[in-house]
Amino acid sequence: MPTLLAIFAHPDDESFGPGGTLARYAAEGARVHYLCATRGEAGTVDTLHLNGYRDVGELRTAELMCAAQVLGLADVQFLGFRDSGIRGDAPDCLARTPVEVVAARIAAHLEHVRPDVVITHDPFGGYGHPDHIAVHKAVLHAFTQIYGVRWRPLPGGHVVAQETVSHAPTLFFFVIPKQWMKLGIWLLRLTGQDPRRFGRNRDIDLVQIASWEVPVNARVDVRRYLSVKQRASACHASQLPLGRQSWVSQLLFRRGNGAEHFSRAHPAPHPNERLATTLLHA
Ligand SMILES: [Zn+2]
Repeated sequence: MPTLLAIFAHPDDESFGPGGTLARYAAEGARVHYLCATRGEAGTVDTLHLNGYRDVGELRTAELMCAAQVLGLADVQFLGFRDSGIRGDAPDCLARTPVEVVAARIAAHLEHVRPDVVITHDPFGGYGHPDHIAVHKAVLHAFTQIYGVRWRPLPGGHVVAQETVSHAPTLFFFVIPKQWMKLGIWLLRLTGQDPRRFGRNRDIDLVQIASWEVPVNARVDVRRYLSVKQRASACHASQLPLGRQSWVSQLLFRRGNGAEHFSRAHPAPHPNERLATTLLHA
């Protein structure tokens, strides 16, 4: 059975992101590993959630372990970096760590896990979080370091492999489809909310994010795993969106509509390639 390795920045990126896909492949017999770069220490947390935990990192580690069990993950490992926060200014944080240092730790896990498929953040870090971008860059760097994959930057900020390296894993970026985001922006404006100040901390600029185009090469049907994804997301109780934004969040981040989307970076897609329905057999 294939081995999938998801590499993301924070506890919750796996569930709020491609949780349905991870649950589906785990249920279908794949070994699905999660490599999490930080323990989400910079997340803002309502104090009631901290009951019984030393700090935010310990709470969010427990939330991730809960989600991993729900999703059926084979293993969770931490890279041990500190969450940078959305402004990327926390001391000694991931976003301020040289890419070579982050890549070296990722490379060690790649050599240990030997995945067939790797999933990580897109070049824009999904919604621009500096830790997501740092992890994305470090994964590319690690692929070059251990497999010799060279990368071709494309206009607009996207990136694909220059050539296929047969012994390197397939690499996908998790993508938020922008047409849904544009609809969400329209709905926010219609209901008197500011799409440039979105999210729990009102620091997410949806208008800018919607301009970051990443081509979708794979659309995975996760309709049968939506309840699993919901239960895994519920494990991250301290990070759930607050109040009346949540239905827009669901639309924006495509929770609940039955599909998750990915952009393939290695092997690079052929021109006019048809949309894949699986992350396997690329
Ligand atoms: Zn994150």
